[in-house]
Amino acid sequence: MDSRVSEDMLYVITSHVYASFSFCMREGWFSAHRIHGTQTNDYLARGRLVETLYKRHGLRQIYLLGSVIDIVVDEKNDTKIVEVKASKSSMKRGTEQAKFLLYLLHRIGIDDATAEVTAPTSRETVRINGSPEMYAEVENKILLYYATSIGDLPPKADTSHCHACSYRLLCGDE
Ligand code: SF4
Repeated sequence: MDSRVSEDMLYVITSHVYASFSFCMREGWFSAHRIHGTQTNDYLARGRLVETLYKRHGLRQIYLLGSVIDIVVDEKNDTKIVEVKASKSSMKRGTEQAKFLLYLLHRIGIDDATAEVTAPTSRETVRINGSPEMYAEVENKILLYYATSIGDLPPKADTSHCHACSYRLLCGDE
C-alpha cells in the first residue's frame, strides 16, 4: 500500500496510543512512550471487567501491525469490529479507536469491514463504515501523533477529562 504512514510508525502509534492522543495530546505522549497510568483507576478496572465478560462469551482477538483488535465477529463472511467501552463517556475514545482499526484493515486490503462501538451500561451503539475520507483523516492524525510522540512532553491540557484519566498523578491532579 502506498502510504505516508510507515509500518514502523504503526508500532509506535497503536490503536491504544491513537485513542489516547484523541483524548489528550499529553496522555498520548505518555502512552506512546509505554508509560502506564495508575492501575487502581476505577474506569480502567471497569473497562477490563466489561471486556472480560465479552471474551467469556466466545468473542475473539486478532493482532495486526502492532495493535490488538479486541473483539471481532464474523457474520455471513463479513468482518465486524466490536469495540466495547465501559461507559457512555468512553464512546468518543472507542469511536476513534474503531476508525483506526478499520484503517489498519484497509491497509491490508480489507475494505468491507464495519465497526460497532458499544457501551453496554448505557445501551448506546455507534456503527462506522470505512471510506476514503475517513482513511485520509486517520492517516493525517497518525502523522500528527507520531510527530508529537518524538517531541517533548506536551503541556498539561485544560480538560474536564483529567479526573477520569489514569495519568492524573503524573499531571499533579491528585
Ligand atoms: S491528567 Fe489531564 S492533562 Fe494529564 S494526561 Fe490526563 S487528560 Fe491529559
